[in-house]
Amino acid sequence: MYTKGLKCRECGMEYPKEPLYVCEYCFGPLEVDYDYDKIKKMLNKDIIISRSKNLWRYRELLPIDADPVVGLQSGFTPLVRAKNLEKKLGVKELYIKDDSVSHPTLSFKDRVVSVAISKAKEFGFDTVACASTGNLANSVSAQSAAARLKCFVFIPSDLESGKIVSSLVYGPKVVAVEGNYDDVNRLCSEIGNKYRWAFVNINIRPYYAEGSKTYIYEIVEQLGWRAPDNIVVPVAGGSLISKIWKGLNELHKLGFIQEVKTKIYAAQAKGCSPVVTAIKENNEIIKPVKPKTIAKSLAIGNPADGYYAFKSVSDSGGWGEDVSDEEIVEGIKLLAITEGIFTETAGGVTVAVTKKLIEQGKIPKDESLVISITGNGLKTQESIRTKLENVINIKANINSFEEVLAKKCLENN
Ligand SMILES: *Cc1c(COP(=O)(O)O)cnc(C)c1O
Repeated sequence: MYTKGLKCRECGMEYPKEPLYVCEYCFGPLEVDYDYDKIKKMLNKDIIISRSKNLWRYRELLPIDADPVVGLQSGFTPLVRAKNLEKKLGVKELYIKDDSVSHPTLSFKDRVVSVAISKAKEFGFDTVACASTGNLANSVSAQSAAARLKCFVFIPSDLESGKIVSSLVYGPKVVAVEGNYDDVNRLCSEIGNKYRWAFVNINIRPYYAEGSKTYIYEIVEQLGWRAPDNIVVPVAGGSLISKIWKGLNELHKLGFIQEVKTKIYAAQAKGCSPVVTAIKENNEIIKPVKPKTIAKSLAIGNPADGYYAFKSVSDSGGWGEDVSDEEIVEGIKLLAITEGIFTETAGGVTVAVTKKLIEQGKIPKDESLVISITGNGLKTQESIRTKLENVINIKANINSFEEVLAKKCLENN
């Protein structure tokens, strides 16, 4: 197969392909190590293009050895040329990578979970679990049901009802913990030490995180094997943004792109911006924060891959910005009214941060730009319900309609 094993990102110590995630010697995080020479001999653009339009079309670059058991309809989401938003923001070439319509649970997390559940099955686990801010719980619940695995998901107790229902319906045990995500995660590490379960974002995190790379592989393929000049990425635990950087470097190593020149920009909410703060202060030590924001899917105060998120941004020559709750709502509305795409609060963060970075001159207006939309607005309706216009109530007759029509027309003048 194409994976050699696991390797410590800090000291380089090698480990076998097992459910391990931290180096015994230096406590650095472990990462999947590939045999790129072998992949280069085997894989080319024609082979990839000939395969089904799902994330497994890049399977040599994903860490599973057996056939995948889930995710056969996941990935290959639309890359939308956003002409209207382009005009509004005054940029030349703008795209939306739209994981708000991801199969099966409408967020980017279907990518990482497809890989994690397939790997958990390979390892022989009978129970999967996760600590989640919502979307991960949805995808683990759905995909473990499809894979016939038992499932426990742990969430902060204050999540949006759309995210709770979208887990419960698949029949897992949903455990709502009094506390924030960082409290939930700490508890899960303890549970993971005691029970032999596959915690997708803890003990099998090295495999899980690899699924994030497919987001950028697809963008490059959809642009005709061209990497964008700039990409704005929302940051929670820091997996997606750091794997975008890894994925670009792999594509270069394998000869799919000429050079790695994409600048990566981190997007966070003001109420939880440990990575963006580190970028602005040029300080690689991430200071944990207590989250307070409507962007609950990004509310991780102590991000597992915070340092690598910081590194990816600075190595790429990018930057970071944070936005207030009001700006997040404006971001959601802006994307909806210009492009007809309804994203959740995390997408509002990304759109609002993009606008800010363009206004600041950090993102050049004449370069290509991708905005990462990672979740669906139907799950976080309560964050904007009161910020929209009211519906117009009428009686079931034409007079009643024309009365309000006359009034509304006057209002608009
Ligand atoms: C999980 C998530 C992200 C990114 O999370 P990372 O932990 O940084 O990989 C982005 N957007 C949404 C909607 C998410 O659920």
